[in-house]
Amino acid sequence: MGYLNGFVVTFRKWLGTRTDTGRRVTLQYPEQTRPKPARFHGRHVLNRYEDGMEKCIGCELCAGVCPARCIYVRGADNDPDDPTSPGERYGFVYEINYLRCIHCDLCVEACPTQAITETKLFEFAFTNRADAIYTKDELVVDDDGRPRRLPWENWDGGFDAAQDTSGWMRATSPGGSSEFEGIVAWAGELGYGVRAPEGGQPLEREQQAAAQAGHDDHDGHGSH
Ligand code: SF4
Ligand code: SF4
Repeated sequence: MGYLNGFVVTFRKWLGTRTDTGRRVTLQYPEQTRPKPARFHGRHVLNRYEDGMEKCIGCELCAGVCPARCIYVRGADNDPDDPTSPGERYGFVYEINYLRCIHCDLCVEACPTQAITETKLFEFAFTNRADAIYTKDELVVDDDGRPRRLPWENWDGGFDAAQDTSGWMRATSPGGSSEFEGIVAWAGELGYGVRAPEGGQPLEREQQAAAQAGHDDHDGHGSH
């Protein structure tokens, strides 16, 4: 008779009743969508600074670290009178092949200038190979610092707001300061500008442990 329990579960789901935990586990997708986790990895963007300069310096580190070999970068020298990015070089050609990308985010971690980051957009489907290979023009954010919306992408979930983009992680500070060695930090990243890193979980744990140690010391002195 145990199978009757299975039927009960099936009918409860069919009738739309809630689970024992009180949380409905299914949604009317695509009309309803779930909030995306902070570290969700979706379609990439190439970011710019507030003045419109591109952050990419064409160093090819992202292409070198990519395990799927799906990034193609060719750098070029900036025109001193009309530079595309700060510094000597910029990304002259930049392509990502989404038929191969596994959204591991290693390119984002490798980038020294926070040029490449990932939005939370994952609803994009192609009908031909050319559309699947995103070019630099498609990846660079627009003048508002937001991703360009391509015809085959569904941005209805609002995945292009700055606060709704993927958090990313650095193991060391961008400037290489030894003070930040081993400190893991998170940064929200979409669009313009340079954003201060947020304290990551290890850092928060260290701060909590230090606060707890200080509390214990205080209690210890108080008992004598
Ligand atoms: S997310 Fe991973 S697989 Fe995709 S382009 Fe970046 S490094 Fe390559
Ligand atoms: S996206 Fe970053 S890592 Fe890749 S070429 Fe540009 S600056 Fe270098």
